[in-house]
Amino acid sequence: MIRFDQVNKTYLGGFLALKQVSFQIAPGEMAFLTGHSGAGKSTLLKLISLMEKPSSGTIHINNQDLAQVGYRQVPYMRRHIGMIFQNHNLLMDRTVFDNVALPLIIEGYSQKEIRKRVDAALDKVHLGNKQKSFPNMLSGGEQQRVGIARAIVNKPPILLADEPTGNLDPKLSLEIIKLFEEFNSVGVSVLIATHDLGLIARMRYRTLTLRAGNMINDGLVDGLQPDD
Ligand code: ADP
Ligand code: ADP
Repeated sequence: MIRFDQVNKTYLGGFLALKQVSFQIAPGEMAFLTGHSGAGKSTLLKLISLMEKPSSGTIHINNQDLAQVGYRQVPYMRRHIGMIFQNHNLLMDRTVFDNVALPLIIEGYSQKEIRKRVDAALDKVHLGNKQKSFPNMLSGGEQQRVGIARAIVNKPPILLADEPTGNLDPKLSLEIIKLFEEFNSVGVSVLIATHDLGLIARMRYRTLTLRAGNMINDGLVDGLQPDD
C-alpha cells in the first residue's frame, strides 16, 4: 500500500532531509512515525501525499509508482489520502459542516450526497450535534476531530497525521488515537507522525524512527527513552 525504496530527499539549497529510506506499510496497517524535530517526519508524509517529490529512489502507493503519476493525476491520487495536521487548518469563518464539506464541494458532489457524507463523517468523530458551530466555539480536541472528519469524508484508504495530538493533553490525545484505531479497524491504513513518546509507549504499535533523515528503527519500541 505504501512502499519506499531507497528514497532520498534533498531540498533546494542541498539539505538532505531523508537518506536511503526504505519501508512498507501494508493495507490496513497502523503505525507511528517518530523522531526529533527536524528528523524528516513531515518530509516523509509530504512525499506520500505528493506535496514533495523524492530526489531519488521510488515510492509506490497502492502499487502505483509515484514517478509515473502525471500532474493531471495528482488530485486523483490525493483523493486516496486523508491528511490531518497539528493545527487542523480549519476555516474559522465557516461552520463545522462547511469545513467538512469542502473536499466534496471541490470534487463536485451533489448537495444531497454532501449532506449524507458530512453527516456520516461527523457522526464517526462524535460531533453530529456541532454541525452549525464555528470552529472557535469548539475545544481544541473538538477542532481536531473536525479536521479528522474532513480528512475521512471522502473515505480515503490511507490516513496520514502530522503531530495530530501536538496541542492536546494526554487524555484528549488518547481519544484522537482511539478514533484512528476505529478507522484502522475498518481497513484504513494509518500513519501517525508524533514525537509524543509517552503516547507511542502506551499504544504499542509498529513505530518507524527517523534520526537526521535516517530510518534508524522499525518495530515495536519497548521502554522508550528520549535519546538526546
Ligand atoms: P520533522 O517533521 O521531523 O520536524 P521535517 O521533515 O519538517 O522534519 O524537516 C526535516 C529537515 O528538512 C529540517 O532540517 C528542515 O529544516 C528541512 N526542510 C523541511 N522543509 C524544507 C524546505 N521546504 N526547504 C528546505 N529545507 C526544508
Ligand atoms: P501548494 O504546493 O501550493 O502548497 P499543495 O497542492 O501542495 O499546494 O497543497 C495545498 C494544500 O492542500 C495543503 O496545504 C494541504 O492543506 C492540502 N492538501 C494537500 N494534499 C492533501 C491531502 N492528500 N489530503 C488533504 N489535504 C491535502
